[in-house]
Amino acid sequence: QNASAPRQAPPLVLTIAGSDSGGGAGIQADLKTMLALGVHGMSVVAAVTAQNSLGVQGYWELPAEAVRAQLDSVLSDIGVHAIKTGMLASTVLVETVAEALAASDAPSVVDPVGVSKHGDSLLAPDAVDAVRSALLPAATVVTPNLYEVEQLTGVKVVDEAGLREAAEAVKALGPRWVLVKGGHLPGEPADLLFDGEHEYRFTAPRHDNRHTHGTGCTLASAIASHLALGDDVPAAVGKAKEYVTGAIAAGFALGAGIGPVDHGW
Ligand code: PLP
Repeated sequence: QNASAPRQAPPLVLTIAGSDSGGGAGIQADLKTMLALGVHGMSVVAAVTAQNSLGVQGYWELPAEAVRAQLDSVLSDIGVHAIKTGMLASTVLVETVAEALAASDAPSVVDPVGVSKHGDSLLAPDAVDAVRSALLPAATVVTPNLYEVEQLTGVKVVDEAGLREAAEAVKALGPRWVLVKGGHLPGEPADLLFDGEHEYRFTAPRHDNRHTHGTGCTLASAIASHLALGDDVPAAVGKAKEYVTGAIAAGFALGAGIGPVDHGW
């Protein structure tokens, strides 16, 4: 018999998020990003969306018991080197996931998903309090866009100079690092990473491509993947920005609406 030793496992990354039936965002974008970056992707499904290029037609959250069971299965046997969270839908799921993050030694990247690009709500209005009080304090990195900054802190950013105030307001809620995504401002997209002391600015050329579905999920998963591969937070964010910029440039038309970023570039 010619039994060779099994290959050593790559770094292990877990996404806890919602499924996008159209394959562009959510769990599907997370797992594609992880595959592209050379880590082993695992998924705890928190909600299932019925979704296509036109928007979210409906969603169903899983019972907390089902989310807890998936977490137990993964963590008790396989383990994890970094965790990414996305759409968590409800207060009880936000609290369940916050507990898991707080109990884990693995770094976590929290994408505080509130509303999709089409304006469909992916989080119950009453769950914002639990995001603020339980999820953010357990996060290593939180990655709000400007709408999420306003929802979480009341701070409205109108130009690049406002990014620092936004980062300070989110940092005050307890995460170790804040990455404020300024992509919705006019001009060159600029993001600000802040840990309460140091700030790092990241810019990227703007691509004239409206097929950007899944951008936020992809960025957060790429940060988690690079953390699992051994980078520190600023290096992981820099590499993740490069990855998502390439994925946006490669985004393609699909259906009658907004197509997805692409991972095969
Ligand atoms: N669907 C799911 C399951 C998501 O997690 C997200 C975002 O995080 C979206 C849709 C929204 O994606 P986008 O705003 O890029 O269209």
